[in-house]
Amino acid sequence: MLDNSTTLIRQNIVELKRKVSGTKKKIVIVTHWSPDGDAMGSSLGLFHVLKKLGHSVQVIVPNPFPEFLSWLPGSDTVWVSNADSSKKILKRLNEAEIVFCLDFNVLKRIDHLGEWVEKSPAQKVLVDHHVQPDGFAHFVFHDVKASSTCELVYLLLDQLKLTAHVNSKVAQCLYTGIMTDTGSFRFPSTRPVTHEIAAALLRAGANHTLIHEHIYDTNTYGRLALMGFGLQKKLKVLDQYATGLISFSEAEQKKFGYQKGDTEGLVNYPLSIKGVRFSAFFAERDGVIKVSFRSKGDFDVNQFARKHFEGGGHVNAAGGISKQSLNQTIKKFNDLLPLYANQLVKAK
Ligand code: 5GP
Ligand code: MN
Repeated sequence: MLDNSTTLIRQNIVELKRKVSGTKKKIVIVTHWSPDGDAMGSSLGLFHVLKKLGHSVQVIVPNPFPEFLSWLPGSDTVWVSNADSSKKILKRLNEAEIVFCLDFNVLKRIDHLGEWVEKSPAQKVLVDHHVQPDGFAHFVFHDVKASSTCELVYLLLDQLKLTAHVNSKVAQCLYTGIMTDTGSFRFPSTRPVTHEIAAALLRAGANHTLIHEHIYDTNTYGRLALMGFGLQKKLKVLDQYATGLISFSEAEQKKFGYQKGDTEGLVNYPLSIKGVRFSAFFAERDGVIKVSFRSKGDFDVNQFARKHFEGGGHVNAAGGISKQSLNQTIKKFNDLLPLYANQLVKAK
């Protein structure tokens, strides 16, 4: 399955194979803050395989996942970290023998769980496709060229000779993350092997039409109205920097009955304007500003997010936060653009 261009840091596949094929183990799977389709899909896809192998497996997330992912098989068993669940989560992490860390590269991406995972005596296995992973894991299966962590989970199962366990539940989960992280197979990260894995998942029982409907055709009226408001009233296009941005205050989101996940994907819209190569989205959430960046071509938003907004991600998709006010954050962004004018205008 691996094509020749794939460079994976593969450490001790044989050792990992021994661990997951042996006697029943206590396993925890954790994924990043504000879990998205790839985070939930990869975690639950792996969860079902490890359960089938007879292990005791628990998926734990640092905060709630959006409603449009609640149909994923197994999502009802996920523990969401909060004041009530923290005691049992801490206990579970301390008893775990293996902790899989999926779809994130630095422990701060799982917020308070980061410290608990670090202190857990378990062996940690990182499976991820974000750039520059921190060195906290014992086993690393990482490739920035992979379209998604779901793609990497499939490749890992392939390496571990476990793809026979990919049933329709696993396929539904993994297909979801590949589809969402590739923007339905259109981002440059989509490679031949991505389609080969998607084909294998369809054969294993993934229903691509249903998955697409679950994710993209479950809008509320409020969500569409909020998006419409964003596009009509809040979108600013700065032609001289080939940049578009949208921002929402807490009050603006509240007016449309904002629910978690409602602004997902909005950051991509400015990029659909001819000539725009850099897009930013700012939203006030619980007293901080959540920042999202997208780009086309070689303008590196991972570097931009790392340097200026305590974040990171990929070359063409990254995020971060700002602790300044919404207006100050937008001003900071606007003031940064002239420094990048050459790169932005030249970006191919
Ligand atoms: P989004 O804009 O959809 O929240 O995130 C885009 C990409 O950047 C995702 O791959 C996500 O994992 C990553 N990302 C988002 N926010 C952060 C952040 O605060 N820190 C880091 N390191 N990565 C982020
Ligand atoms: Mn991902």
